[in-house]
Amino acid sequence: MIARVGIPSSLFYYVHFPMWQTFFSELGIEVVTSGQTTKGLLDEGVKEALADACVPIKLFFGHVIALKDKVDYLFIPRVVCLNRKTIYCPKFLGLPDMIRHGLSGIPPIIDVQMDNREGWASLWRSYLKIGRIFGKGKMKILMAYLKAWAVAKRFQSLLLAGMHPPEAMAVLKEGGRVQPRHDHKGGLVFAVLGYPYEVHDQFISVGLVKKLKKMGVSVITMENLSPKKIARANILEKKMFWTFSDLALNAAYYLFREGKVDGIIHLTAFGCGPDSMVDKLMELASKEYPEIPYMSVTIDEHTGDAGVSTRLEAFLDMVKRKKEAQQGTCPR
Ligand code: SF4
Repeated sequence: MIARVGIPSSLFYYVHFPMWQTFFSELGIEVVTSGQTTKGLLDEGVKEALADACVPIKLFFGHVIALKDKVDYLFIPRVVCLNRKTIYCPKFLGLPDMIRHGLSGIPPIIDVQMDNREGWASLWRSYLKIGRIFGKGKMKILMAYLKAWAVAKRFQSLLLAGMHPPEAMAVLKEGGRVQPRHDHKGGLVFAVLGYPYEVHDQFISVGLVKKLKKMGVSVITMENLSPKKIARANILEKKMFWTFSDLALNAAYYLFREGKVDGIIHLTAFGCGPDSMVDKLMELASKEYPEIPYMSVTIDEHTGDAGVSTRLEAFLDMVKRKKEAQQGTCPR
């Protein structure tokens, strides 16, 4: 019988799913996901997770609950570091333990550690361990690993061509050639910065990116920016410790400095420890660049659609007026 592995459609899903899915599929293992976030799924997570956890972690619980009776294993690796410089937020490091001790009736968790500070071959050893769980041979695992890396590279190139992760995943699934998407047709361009599992989750972000697009605004996110370029934009003496926080903050520094966007929105999660610093640092940076309007939007499990829409409309209106005033077409 083919083994089924569950990958929750949350947290790392927006970054590593194409690679992970390819790896398992190449080993002949069926991958099952929990699908899009719904209110019911979030409510389930809120009931089971610690009350003071951030909303993405509560949501992750909901995604695991949606999967647990459909699969033979849950894939929740302990991802510590993948760039040899920064580590993931402590909640990521404790994720397999939180799920194991917080939920009952769950299938075995594949919680292999991934930490490439342990040497160049450490990541390969992690994937080798995963393949061994299913009794696969070393050569088969190696081929699956290499194929998975090739897909990860293609995914990255689609993001750098201007796509958002859900669009890039759809392209990978459907195949075919893709046109780069850097054409903003002279309209307004906003950057929406924040963790991928907030920005690209339609439900938890209250469809913020979609709303902006409907208003005629082109949206770029931190995945569309070259990691090397944004790393060089860091102005802090010490880097942020946490990978996603470091990326989001440096993306803001880069965009403020380059001035290539008409507005920057920081999407932040209520209850997020790292964001209490990231949000403040972004706000301070925004004061250095008053020509680029900046707004912070905090989301939690109670965030309402109407409230976010109103704030976006007001922000857009303000950006348009500011631009008109700069061009001398509107009295201040
Ligand atoms: S970075 Fe913040 S939002 Fe993300 S898991 Fe950690 S505490 Fe939660």
